[in-house]
Amino acid sequence: MSKVRLRFAPSPTGALHIGGVRTALYNYLLAKQAGGKFILRIEDTDQTRYVPGAEAYIIEALEWCGLRPDEGPGFGGNYGPYRQSDRKALYEKYAQQLLDSGHAFYAFDTPEELDARREQEKEVGNHNFRYDPTTRHSMRNSEALGAAETQRLLDAGTPYTVRLKIPTDEIVKIQDLVRGEVQFQSNELDDRVLLKTDRMPTYHLANIVDDHLMEITHVIRGEEWLPSTAHHVLLYRAFGWEDTMPAFAHLPLIMKPTGKGKLSKRDGAKLGIPVFPLSWQGETEAESFVGFREAGFDPRAVLNFLALLGWNPGTEQEIFDLEGLIEAFSIEKIGKGGARFDYDKARWFNQQYIMHTPDADLVTTLKPLLAEKGVHQDDAFLLAFVALMKERATVYGDFWEQGYYFFQEVTTYDTKAVKKKWQAERVPLFEQLRASLLALGDTGVPEIEATVKNFLEVNGLGFGDVFPILRVAITGTTKGPAIYDVMALLGAEEVDRRLAKGYAVFNAL
Ligand code: GLU
Repeated sequence: MSKVRLRFAPSPTGALHIGGVRTALYNYLLAKQAGGKFILRIEDTDQTRYVPGAEAYIIEALEWCGLRPDEGPGFGGNYGPYRQSDRKALYEKYAQQLLDSGHAFYAFDTPEELDARREQEKEVGNHNFRYDPTTRHSMRNSEALGAAETQRLLDAGTPYTVRLKIPTDEIVKIQDLVRGEVQFQSNELDDRVLLKTDRMPTYHLANIVDDHLMEITHVIRGEEWLPSTAHHVLLYRAFGWEDTMPAFAHLPLIMKPTGKGKLSKRDGAKLGIPVFPLSWQGETEAESFVGFREAGFDPRAVLNFLALLGWNPGTEQEIFDLEGLIEAFSIEKIGKGGARFDYDKARWFNQQYIMHTPDADLVTTLKPLLAEKGVHQDDAFLLAFVALMKERATVYGDFWEQGYYFFQEVTTYDTKAVKKKWQAERVPLFEQLRASLLALGDTGVPEIEATVKNFLEVNGLGFGDVFPILRVAITGTTKGPAIYDVMALLGAEEVDRRLAKGYAVFNAL
């Protein structure tokens, strides 16, 4: 059994955005490729940013994508609990260990004192005040105050944080699987808070303790975490866990569709970037987006698209199902540069998936969507409908948007397209055609085609004289599947009614 263990560790601070899903996907792929485990850990120690409902949202989003965790809250596993707020007591113990070994210190500075100090520094032109080896001695902490005073403050119940004691003059090296060796000068790092006054750990402490205890072998996460990794490496060292430190891989940023700048929440509002939904309890009105699910994407297409957002297989192949991705994926082929988010490309992937999905599966997917529109046709009809529409649909909603007329009367007519063709002297001819089509009864495409062709021949008309009329009367538009197919599926009586109504509309033009 492989010992490879990867985790997706989101903070439940809002809707899961597409970058988060990409991170989850890459972790999932590498875990599965190695026959290892994919773990979901909820990093909810920052109570101020906690959003109710976000955890459930994250889990629903992962399940929609088909990225089911092997371990996690509600998924079982031997390394639980998997929600950091349920592990609180544990972190205090580890903070104590660092205090005892001299790798961390008590800091009694209040937020007001820290603000005041920051202001003071600004006045002398220093805008980047940092709590670090150079300033530590002038702050209120156990390093500066000495053991007796520290004990007195502790005994008096003075609130404190625990900070990591950054060593001076050291080069901290990170072997990143994407970026190669990355170096940080320790003097550039701050004495980061590990335990807050409410005894809750910060992300940094909890993350390292949990990755260690959960025996995580690889940490794959967004590039924004790269600077923190120096602190993390120092933490592993301070705990004496360097030998089992996970390998790190930092994923490239996701860039705006224009390629300029990082993809933002506002881009999400325009493009529908979160996984779903329209709006959910954690998001305010202004932050509500149409998610990929609501926009009619197939989760397989979303995953395929995301896999290629920062990774390339090194071949021309673009279409990969999850199994194919598990096989082909490799960290070596993850790019360093930002990956441009191309919504049109996402739509292209979706179109490919719709086109290649068996009709019966499409019917299963579309049934609930069509039921919402009041459509309850039998499977035979839906199968025929899907077969006619699948080459044209980009997202699932297109089946209804572009094909609603299969289920209900035409609501808008593209009258522009018929205006020139609809000539008063031909009206009797079109009435004749209507009668012959009705006389045919419900029948197949060849019979309908023969009837229309015969009509053209007898009356010396061309396709261009008749097709737009038929199309617009029956479907409202000149686009769509072959009109004979539509007519055969709708049946003679329905076609007759539509022609009658369409003619009336055209007569009134
Ligand atoms: N909780 C962090 C986040 O929300 C996890 C970062 C990591 O994977 O270490 O992105």
